[in-house]
Amino acid sequence: MIRVESATRRYGSLTAVDQVSFEVEKNEIVGFVGPNGAGKSTMLKMLSTFIHPSEGTVTVAGHDAVAEPLAVRHNIGYLSGDTPLYQEMRVDKFLRFIAEARGLTGDALEQGLKKVIDLCSLDTVLKQRVKECSTGFRQRIGLATALVHNPPVLLLDEPTHGFDPMQVLAFRDTLRSLRENRAILFSTHIIGDVEAISDRVLIIHQGRLLGDGRVQDLAERAGIPGAGLEEVFAHLVRTTAPTHV
Ligand code: ADP
Repeated sequence: MIRVESATRRYGSLTAVDQVSFEVEKNEIVGFVGPNGAGKSTMLKMLSTFIHPSEGTVTVAGHDAVAEPLAVRHNIGYLSGDTPLYQEMRVDKFLRFIAEARGLTGDALEQGLKKVIDLCSLDTVLKQRVKECSTGFRQRIGLATALVHNPPVLLLDEPTHGFDPMQVLAFRDTLRSLRENRAILFSTHIIGDVEAISDRVLIIHQGRLLGDGRVQDLAERAGIPGAGLEEVFAHLVRTTAPTHV
């Protein structure tokens, strides 16, 4: 569903993403992990067609992100910390507005709304204005807007940012329930999120992909069998030569 081949993105002289290749298939939740500034958001923005790769190719659901951006957008739900929410609108009206903008009408519209309201547990805030909702609810509203058209690919940039521990647990459950028939790629610098819900991890540091696989396999490959993700990450960073970035 997601295919990235030698993608590079430069901002002036800075190489934010450097020759990165990976794939994500249906029924997979993949955690994209790396410290702040590693290039995670840049990669997700290329996948969601907001920016173009400087080199390489990015394909989503069989469509090239540069040549067919509308087809890609049709197939993705994208959530980032800066996803705009209309603060003054009531939550129910806002969700309906987004669903209509996504082209949903009639039964598909009503069913789509009902499904995301249930899934994201938004029934208690439907009559509130967006700006009156807590951070956790606002993030769930964002997730609902990303899901309302039932996309086969979900791209989530730091989805648990600003959550309290209970909200983190609830969000992990929601994400697990969305796994079937979807390819989900989510970025985070929180190791616990990745270990709790990912089938596979992509480790990125200074724009370069240092690891791609299940944590236990990466640990074995690194010669530290049984190690957790934190240790594997530290090992990969230590043993990889610094770049020009
Ligand atoms: P992450 O999401 O892993 O925190 P980003 O993809 O946001 O990392 O950033 C990767 C690098 O690219 C950082 O050094 C960041 O400062 C730089 N960067 C990101 N966006 C821009 C931009 N619009 N212009 C210039 N540099 C940018």
